[in-house]
Amino acid sequence: MQATLTIDLSAICDNWRALDAMSSGETAAVIKADAYGLGAATVGPALAAAGVKTFFVAQANEAVILRNALGAGPRIFNFSGLMQGDDTALTDHNIIPVLNSATQVERFAKNLTGKPCGVQLDTGMNRLGMETAEAASVAMTLHALKPELVMSHLACADEPAHLMNNTQFAAFSAMTAMMPATQKSLSATGGILLGQAFHFDLTRPGIGLYGGLPFKDAKPVVQLDLPIIQVRDVLPGEIVGYGASWKAARPSKIATISSGYADGILRSAKGFSLYAGDTACPVVGRVSMDLLTVDVTDLTEIPTSLSLLNTVQTVDVLARCAGTIGYEILTSLGGRYKRDYVGEN
Ligand SMILES: *Cc1c(COP(=O)(O)O)cnc(C)c1O
Repeated sequence: MQATLTIDLSAICDNWRALDAMSSGETAAVIKADAYGLGAATVGPALAAAGVKTFFVAQANEAVILRNALGAGPRIFNFSGLMQGDDTALTDHNIIPVLNSATQVERFAKNLTGKPCGVQLDTGMNRLGMETAEAASVAMTLHALKPELVMSHLACADEPAHLMNNTQFAAFSAMTAMMPATQKSLSATGGILLGQAFHFDLTRPGIGLYGGLPFKDAKPVVQLDLPIIQVRDVLPGEIVGYGASWKAARPSKIATISSGYADGILRSAKGFSLYAGDTACPVVGRVSMDLLTVDVTDLTEIPTSLSLLNTVQTVDVLARCAGTIGYEILTSLGGRYKRDYVGEN
């Protein structure tokens, strides 16, 4: 048996439908970083069949892979815009760059006039997009280009009470008042949950589709089952694993699992378990590159595999154990897992 990541496409589509029902305008889907590690070439077509008409990725090479999977039809926007050398990849595959600097606007106007584009404004996050003065410096060109989309991104949407939300809302409203764009877009998953004022014409959920916080009502999407290679008896006082960091306090049964930090199981994670059905079996000793050791003493029957991700130990629960966020757990999921897709496709 091989370590297997089961990805529920129906749950992804249902999460999109739920976010779409909350959104006042169009609901797009963000499937950058290979659909947060879950496989853009499979997730993309499933979402398109569920009704998604607009997709976002982060880089031109991802956009090309997605276009090949989707075929003609859905819009694909590239967040990184038009980087030097991207022109033919984008035009050959009908990808829409989200222009984020005066340099990109000018490059687009010079090489690709007549093609569709989007524009990103920076409303206070100071990460990507044009601030007011930079946008003003290319205002005439932007008017001539007639962007399909003008967007910005919220820095603190996962904290509803954060003052940045209203500050960025006000800045976006002011900056886009005179923009000729067809659609305005401010919100990712967190912004959708802030309410309709934040939705404008198009929302851009990512993590919520994949079952992660801040979308609390998301359906869980991933199950990760890891095979047991070997089980041994360990006497009180014996150690397990590198650094002898764990010592048996009782006669113990230790299962050795075929997955480790090379598979995205973060070595920094502490206090997590693998599950035999509903029963938690604590991981003991250090996570090594290809192996994990688990205390299965309390199981009456040893199964052939244990699960690391399920409906109890979700990506967000595991993230807390590793001092990170669900996004990083998902995008770290390793290339050695067999990926099984279930549900609609
Ligand atoms: C990643 C990203 C999104 C999606 O964010 P989630 O929090 O995953 O919903 C939307 N817009 C931009 C600009 C992004 O970088």
